[in-house]
Amino acid sequence: MSTSSKLDRLRPKLPRICVALSGPAMLTRAAELAAEHTFFELRLDTAPNPAAILPQLAHLLQNRPQVILIATCRRTANGGHFPGTPEDELHLLSEAAAAGAHLIDLSLETAEALTEHNRAALDALRNSTAALLLSWHDFHATPNLEAVHDRMRPHAPDLYKIVPTATTLRDSFALPDLLEAHSAEQNVVAMAMGQPGILTRILGPRFGSVFTFAASDAASATAPGQIDLRTLRDLYRIENISADTELYGVFGNPISGSHSPVMLNTAFRETGTDAVYLPLETGSADELFETFHRLHLAGASVTMPLKEQVLPRIDRLHPLAAKLGAANTLSRDPGITIAGGNTDAAGIADPLAGCIVLNGATILVLGAGGAARAAVFALRDRGATVAVLNRTFERAQHLAQQAGVTALPRQYLAHCRFDVIVNATPYGMANRSIEAPINASELSCCKLFFDLVYNPLETPLIVLAKSQGIPVLYGIEMFLAQGAAQFELWTGKPAPREAMRQAVLEALQLSS
Ligand code: NAP
Repeated sequence: MSTSSKLDRLRPKLPRICVALSGPAMLTRAAELAAEHTFFELRLDTAPNPAAILPQLAHLLQNRPQVILIATCRRTANGGHFPGTPEDELHLLSEAAAAGAHLIDLSLETAEALTEHNRAALDALRNSTAALLLSWHDFHATPNLEAVHDRMRPHAPDLYKIVPTATTLRDSFALPDLLEAHSAEQNVVAMAMGQPGILTRILGPRFGSVFTFAASDAASATAPGQIDLRTLRDLYRIENISADTELYGVFGNPISGSHSPVMLNTAFRETGTDAVYLPLETGSADELFETFHRLHLAGASVTMPLKEQVLPRIDRLHPLAAKLGAANTLSRDPGITIAGGNTDAAGIADPLAGCIVLNGATILVLGAGGAARAAVFALRDRGATVAVLNRTFERAQHLAQQAGVTALPRQYLAHCRFDVIVNATPYGMANRSIEAPINASELSCCKLFFDLVYNPLETPLIVLAKSQGIPVLYGIEMFLAQGAAQFELWTGKPAPREAMRQAVLEALQLSS
C-alpha cells in the first residue's frame, strides 16, 4: 500500500481533534471517551511498561471499531519518558502497529539515528497497514520550520508533525506560513506549544493542519498550552471554524487567567454567530497590531498592560476612550481602519444605575488607576457627586483635577457618608496579598458597596460589607457589562447576558 493511500484512507475518518492520553490508565480513559470521541493518541512512553498495554490496545479496537489510534513512544532524549534506544522505540511502535494502531508516531531524531540494519525494520513498518507520522518538537523556541520540513522529507512519512514552542505571538505566525506552503500536500499537522501558541491549536485546521491535539480534561495536558477536548469542541467550536468564521480575541499579559474567552465564545455560540474569540498573549502594542492585521481580526478586547499603549496606533478613537486615556475595545471598520473605544465606563455605570439613581448620588471611588479613572468619569457624567481616595494622594488629586471632582484625604473619611463606595484597587484579587484600602468602620459610611475585583467573587471587602448589612454589587457585574457592550458593538445583536453570566460563574468556580 503506498503511503499516500494510507492517509487518503484514514482522512475521511479523522476528526479535527486528536485527544492525547497518557499514564497507566490511558486505555481505560480512551474506552470511557469513545462514546463521545473517536480519535486518540496513546503516549505509550508514559506507561510503566509500554509493551504490557498493547493487548489492551488491540482489545479496545476490537470492541470499538470506530476508534482511530496514534501510538507514540517518545524517548527521554526527545522530551518523552521512554528510556530505551531508537531501536527500542521502533520495535515497540512496530508491535503497536501489529496490535492495530492506525498511525505510528516516530520521532525525527529516532528515524535519523537508526542504523542501516534497522532501516529494514522501518521499511517493514512502512509496509504495515499503519501510517507513518514523523514528528519533531522544540520545547523552547520556533526555529526555521521549512528547514525542519526539509530534514523530514527524506524519510517520506505519510504525515509530518511539526511542533515548535511559541514564546511570542509572532513566533506562532510561522505555523500558518508553513501550512500554507504545504497546502497542496495536505499532510502536515502543526501547532505551537506555549501560551502565545494557543491560537495555532484553535485555528490549526483552518490554516490547513490535518488535525490538532487536545487534552482529555483540563488537568491532563500532555504539552504546554494544550487545551482540553470539551473546551476546544464546545467553547471554541473547532469543528465549525471555517475560512468564513470571523476572528476576535483578547490581548494582554498575562492572559491565561482571563475569563473573556469563556464569556465571549459563549455569547457567539448562544446567538449562532459564526465567530471565535482567542486568548492572545502579548504585552507589546506593536505585536498586538501586527496580530490584528495578520489574523484579519474583526475586533479585539484589550487588557493589562495595553489599554493606554494602544491609543496612538488607533485610527479612529472614540471621544470617551480619548477622555479616559484608555481603550479596551478595538473594532475593524470597513477597510483597514481600526476604531478604538472604551466599554469599562459603561461596565461600571450601567450595573450601578440598575440599583440607584446616579444623578445626585454621592460616590467614593477607591484607587486612581485605570479602573478608577473609568469609574470617576462615567459616574460624574451620569450626574453623581464623586470623590476619589487613593493610597498615593497626589494621584487622587491629579485624577480629581482632570475630572473636576474631589480628592479625599483618608483622615476625613470618618466624617463622611456616601451612597456608594466603589473599590477600584486590586485589593482582594486572588493571589495578591496587599493592605486593605479601607477598614471596617470606614466602610460602614456607605449604603451600597461595589467591588470591581471579580476573582474571587466573594472578595474580603464584599464579605465585610455583607457582614455589616450593606448591600453589595459584585465585580462580575462590571466584567459582564463591559463584555456585553463589546459583543453588541461588534455584532449589532443583543448580548445573551444570562448565558454569559452562567458561563463566567462556572469558570470562576472551577478556578477557585
Ligand atoms: P491600576 O491601574 O494598577 O491601579 C490600581 C490603583 O489601586 C492605584 O491607584 C493604586 O494606588 C491602588 N492600590 C493598589 N494597592 C492598593 C492598596 N493596598 N491600598 C490602596 N490602594 C491601592 O489597576 P486598575 O487597572 O485600575 O485595576 C484595579 C482593579 O480593578 C483590578 O485589580 C481589577 O481587579 C479591577 N478591575 C475589574 C474589572 C472588571 O471587569 N470587573 C475591570 C478592570 C479592573 P497607587 O496610586 O498608590 O499605586
